[in-house]
Amino acid sequence: MSELAILPKVRWSGVEGRPIVIAGPCSAESEAQVLETARRLQGARVDYFRAGIWKARTRPETFEGIGDAALPWLQRAGREFGLRTATEVATAAHVEAALRHDVDLIWIGARTTVNPFSVQEIADALRGVTIPVLIKNPTSPDMGLWIGAIERIHRAGVRALGVIHRGFSIAGNSRFRNAPMWELAIELRRTHPEIPIVTDPSHITGQREMVQEIAQRAMDLGLDGIMIEAHPDPDHAWSDAAQQVTPERLGEILQHLKVRRETSPDAAFLASLEMLRDRIDHLDHDLVELLARRMRVVEEIADYKREKNVATLQVSRWSALLEDRVARAVALGLTADYAHAIYEIIHRESVRRQSEIMDQEPAGGAAADT
Ligand code: PEP
Ligand code: MN
Repeated sequence: MSELAILPKVRWSGVEGRPIVIAGPCSAESEAQVLETARRLQGARVDYFRAGIWKARTRPETFEGIGDAALPWLQRAGREFGLRTATEVATAAHVEAALRHDVDLIWIGARTTVNPFSVQEIADALRGVTIPVLIKNPTSPDMGLWIGAIERIHRAGVRALGVIHRGFSIAGNSRFRNAPMWELAIELRRTHPEIPIVTDPSHITGQREMVQEIAQRAMDLGLDGIMIEAHPDPDHAWSDAAQQVTPERLGEILQHLKVRRETSPDAAFLASLEMLRDRIDHLDHDLVELLARRMRVVEEIADYKREKNVATLQVSRWSALLEDRVARAVALGLTADYAHAIYEIIHRESVRRQSEIMDQEPAGGAAADT
């Protein structure tokens, strides 16, 4: 996908040199709750006041949002407290209802991004409309689905366009509700630097205690904004209680956030950075060369094994190797997880290459000596 013609975020948000902040309750629950949240957010520097109106919930017996009746509450909060408003849409009818109530920004939820029919329906409803649209990443770590949704909305003519990084459902244990998998956000930034990225620490962490840490991480990566759920009485929220913070706590989080600059005009800093990057380049070149040399040895081993028709998978050798390399890495100050992950990849590719060589002759066994 080539560069998309989209507006710089400052053109639609007016925000420059600091992150866009979107905050407000997970769900609109009552007019009083919406107004109280907005009132208490007054002191914090919030650019858009969010509230979920239609909630795509995993289980049917949970609160599914107030629906259209809550839109006037959001509208009133926006007017009374001078806030721009934002909500999630999942259908064309939601888009139309939101527009009728002067919503200033809409986003497409993670459960909707996964469905191209729904995204297309929303895209069709957005033709000729200038409202900013943010697209949450799909629940699964599927870059194609995310980009596909961005393309559909873009093709409808939306130019005030961005994404929300809210983490991914993955198998296995994680300390997060939705694993951040920062590498996917970074990959999107690499291929599409023109797309603003807003991080949603509330849905990534699922726990209010971790919101600050993840918001800071987004700033450290130079991302463009944050969306944080705030509720006047978080413990009694009708949805996502554990992750919401009070408006006052939100103010503290924002105050403590260290916003990183993209670069610095300081000449000494730039010179040091250049030197260090040069060292990284040289080390990386050595690393690639070593990997290639290692692979030549793996291939030599495969040749011998094929000749002798020796079955090759020696689990004990692989276990001993892995243990030794991880221990060495840890002794040198690297983490065990990191070393483990790297050796998994090295081993997998060695197995693949050896199998390829062994299969060149029918007598060969398949497996690896790495
Ligand atoms: C939300 O922002 O309230 C929401 C439902 O988020 P997600 O689509 O990321 O689950
Ligand atoms: Mn929520």
